Parts: sequence; structure tokens; C-alpha cells
Amino acid sequence: MSDESMFDTVCLIGIGLIGSSLARVMRRDHLARHIIACARTDATLAKVSELGLADETSKDLGKAVENADLVVISTPIGTNGAIAETISAHLKQGAIVTDVGSVKQAVMAAITPHIPEGVHFVPGHPLAGTENSGPEAGFAELFEGRWCVLTPDEKTDPDAIDQVAALWHRAGSKVDMMDAEHHDSVLALTSHLPTLIAFNIVGTVADLEDSTKQEVVKYSATGFRDFTRIAAQDPVMWRDVYLNNREAVLEMLQRFSEDLSRLQRAIRWGEADMLEDLFRRSRDVRRNIIDAGQA
Ligand code: NAP
Repeated sequence: MSDESMFDTVCLIGIGLIGSSLARVMRRDHLARHIIACARTDATLAKVSELGLADETSKDLGKAVENADLVVISTPIGTNGAIAETISAHLKQGAIVTDVGSVKQAVMAAITPHIPEGVHFVPGHPLAGTENSGPEAGFAELFEGRWCVLTPDEKTDPDAIDQVAALWHRAGSKVDMMDAEHHDSVLALTSHLPTLIAFNIVGTVADLEDSTKQEVVKYSATGFRDFTRIAAQDPVMWRDVYLNNREAVLEMLQRFSEDLSRLQRAIRWGEADMLEDLFRRSRDVRRNIIDAGQA
């Protein structure tokens, strides 16, 4: 291990936007002596080799984790349980397993039963992303200035938590600890609901008759354009987010629908003050986000 290395061998299971961005951070800062990347397809692994993101690639997950001190699972949430089951018997004593899934309670329920005694699982979620997928989409600066939320429980080994937190600090992130249930309801509001609204609005346009659709695309103003960027994110990843954070998303959706009905009523009855007041408060939220450096 070089002086700077945090880990001897790291196994990255899933090397798309998030996994490859982490690989780039590890390469840039020499955080691992040896990186093994795993994916489902030969095409992805060939791209990983071409980009020089790993020292070794493999589709055999069990073999790939055998010598790993750190295993990072960065695949769609729906695959996490089966992956944890596959690697379970091959994990070495003292190894740390972490993940980057956008939902925490369901992911912890899927992975934890397969973590053997003497192996440490530290669940995590970097609040960073783009609408692009795959190993070419990643970049080392993705996590800079962004939050990474860790959701360990009371039994998680404190040293393992510190090591995972240190990795995210090296990636430029600010690290916060949160209870998994709280994480899921906060993210339902700040990420899952807005993205669902974007999918819905863009879906409405997709269902329009052809001539109208062409006009929308041609005259697309920033509002709609911004929604299309959000709605261009990976379909499998987002399918899994909604199926795995059902309760919290449905709760936020209910509140959203009630507020939307109030707005509908205000427009119908010409309640100018109500509309202006809401829009002013919305501006304040935007200013607060800018002041917090999250714009
Ligand atoms: P991505 O770019 O689509 O990459 C997914 C990777 O997982 C690919 O390398 C894929 O390999 C691999 N994979 C899929 N199924 C697999 C399996 N059964 N076994 C082994 N490898 C498998 O996805 P991503 O955007 O990096 O997202 C990954 C995770 O990060 C998700 O859980 C998501 O919730 C979380 N996350 C995403 C964002 C975001 O904005 N994208 C932000 C924060 C957290 P192939 O290419 O060979 O199929």
C-alpha cells in the first residue's frame, strides 16, 4: 500500500455513473492499491478497461470480493439483495461493504441478512448525480461539495463508519449521519417526488398527438427543458427507487396532490394574494438553497 492508500483492494460492484466516479476519485488520489470492477455485461467491462478505471474486471462477483478490504455496491437497488447473497460466503473477515443506493431502509433490509459475522456493512447515499449512466458518464468531481448521507445502525462498527466517511471526504463530499427511515422520507420529498413530477409532465407531452408534441419540443422554454433533463435519468434506477420507497413517496404524493388542488382552486377563483404569497415563499426557498451552497 502506498502512504496515501486508504485501502489495499477495493471491489466496485457496478461501475456506472456512481461507481466509475468513485473509481476516478480512487485513481486520482491513489486511495486503493488494487481496484476490481464488476458489471453485468462484457461491453461495460471492456469500456472500464479502455478507460483504465480498474486494475482488473470480473463478472464473477464471489471471486472478485475475496481479497477486498472494501466492497462498494453501486447497482440498481433491486439487484442489491441477490448481489449480497452471492458475495456473502466470499467476503473476507474485517472487510467493509458499503452501498450508494438512493433508498436506505429497503436496501438495508436486502443486504444486512447476507453480511457475515466479522464483516461490516455501512449503508451510504451520495446526493450527487446527473442524467447520464454508464462508466463513460462518471467524473471525479461529481461528489465535490455534495452531501453523502450514511445510515448505519447502532450495531455498526464505528471504525468502519469512519473509514467510509473518510473515503467520501476524500471525494470532496460533506458527510452526514441519519436514521434510515428519516433519510427515506427526506429524500422522498427532496428527490423522489420532484423526479416523479418530471416523469409525469414529460409523459404528458409524450402522449400528446404528434403535431402538438413537435410544437412543444420546438418552443421548449426553460421550464419544460429542465423537466426533460430530470426525466432523462436512468429508467431502471428510478423504477427501483419508487418500488423500494413506496410508503414515503405515497405520503409525499398525497400532500402534493392536496396542495395542487389548493392551487387549482386559487386560479379558478382568482385568489391573487394566495398565488403571489406562495410564489414569494418559493423564491425564499430557492435563495436558501443558494445560500447553503447547494444550487
Ligand atoms: P448506472 O450508471 O446505470 O450503472 C449501473 C451499474 O450496475 C452498471 O455498471 C451495471 O452493469 C451494473 N449492474 C447492474 N445490474 C448488475 C448486476 N446484477 N450485477 C452486477 N452489476 C450490475 O447506475 P448509477 O447511476 O451509477 O446508479 C447506481 C446506484 O447509485 C443506484 O442504486 C442508485 O440508486 C444510486 N445513485 C444514483 C444516483 C444518480 O443520480 N444516478 C445518485 C445517487 C445514488 P452493466 O452496464 O453491465 O449493466
